[in-house]
Amino acid sequence: MTKPLTNMQTRDVEALLHPYTNAVMHREVGAHVIERGEGVYVYDDQGRRFIEGMAGLWCCGLGFGDRELIETAQAQLEKLPYYHLFGGRSHEPAIELAEKIKDLAPGMARVFYQSSGSEANETQIKLAWYYNNAMGRPEKKKIISRVKGYHGVSIVSASLTGLPYNHKSFDLPVDRIHHTATPHHWRGAEPGESEADFSARLAREFDEMIEAEGPDTVAAFIAEPVMGAGGVIAPPEGYFEAITPVLAKHDVLCIADEVICGFGRTGEWFGHQRLGMKPNAISMAKQLTGGYVPLSAVAIDAQMAEVIERHTGEVGIFGHGFTYGGHPLGCAVGSAAIDIYRRRDIPARVRALEPEFQRRLRSYADHPLVGEARGIGLLGALELTPGGTAMFDPVGKVGPYLAMRLLEHGVILRAIGDTLAFCPPMTISEDELDQLFAPIERCLDETLHWAT
Ligand code: PLP
Repeated sequence: MTKPLTNMQTRDVEALLHPYTNAVMHREVGAHVIERGEGVYVYDDQGRRFIEGMAGLWCCGLGFGDRELIETAQAQLEKLPYYHLFGGRSHEPAIELAEKIKDLAPGMARVFYQSSGSEANETQIKLAWYYNNAMGRPEKKKIISRVKGYHGVSIVSASLTGLPYNHKSFDLPVDRIHHTATPHHWRGAEPGESEADFSARLAREFDEMIEAEGPDTVAAFIAEPVMGAGGVIAPPEGYFEAITPVLAKHDVLCIADEVICGFGRTGEWFGHQRLGMKPNAISMAKQLTGGYVPLSAVAIDAQMAEVIERHTGEVGIFGHGFTYGGHPLGCAVGSAAIDIYRRRDIPARVRALEPEFQRRLRSYADHPLVGEARGIGLLGALELTPGGTAMFDPVGKVGPYLAMRLLEHGVILRAIGDTLAFCPPMTISEDELDQLFAPIERCLDETLHWAT
């Protein structure tokens, strides 16, 4: 028996179409309405408190209610609530934030703003095309991303995303976008194949894919240093080290999608620094503003910047830009967030918490419901299986059941299919980490009982 909907839940189902939600089921169970947040906790409209184990959607790395971010936003709204960067106009918050991004990402020369991660990746692909036109290579336009990669939901970024739900019934992916294998050793390796050998094999397959497509037609490779929404998959040993020479051999641009990994999440400022990826361009969003204001940024290296800037002179204009790209509110809050990350040395904090966080995750590896416990930095996952690497049939029932059990115990974690993802605020204390993990064993047991 489902409970009757509250007044707020009724208003919700009558007014909203929810992202990533089964609207038919939602009408039955109703919304979980969140009212406010403080630190690592959020409170719902029934007054219940939850520890936010996903930092919202991987974005509130500084938790909720940070005074400095709030006061910065207020001050910026009073001083200049809106301005744009079109036609050569500018404002100091945009300039200052770009300078700070360049400081954190050595090798990056110019920053372009938009509001979301999807738009950042959309910009990346347009830049890769513009760049190759400028280089006199109009055929070099194909993009390679990865199965289970997540790069957003707009037409091109959803095409880059390698997940079935993002394509099904949307007539995607569009052409020119191809997907190479997921670097997931546990699922993808041959029996007895080491991580290094698996990486070398994937790099060979990647090389063969480019050869088959024609190197003169392949513009760029895009990858998250650690896959997030595809199930929190850190690459096996030597993966990016093996991919990099293939990119160089075929003159293919490397785009790091740092929308989740950026700003300390893996224990370095950027995930590519931790995972040995060598990008020509970086996408960032989410933790860029601690999730408080929508803002994303694309940074490009000096070679791309030089070619693109020159080409704007030839074309007459750089015909790309968003009304809210570089919004002063987002830039001011982003700038303040970077100051906080620096002052509190958040990457070092993540490195300090990582051993205990990862030890706890892996302590569930022997539970009969857990196929793999994995993660890096303050990112983690428990992939639930009926045994080994087998998948539940149907997929996507057991994971959400576990997430629902955890909710009953005051913990918000996200089920991605049958994988439970962890991405707590990077400001979480050891005591709060205890609270986050406290109900896991019991809820795994309850879920096992329910599933069998
Ligand atoms: N790229 C990555 C790695 C992401 O995780 C996401 C969102 O989760 C996106 C891009 C898309 O960002 P947005 O939802 O802001 O469009």
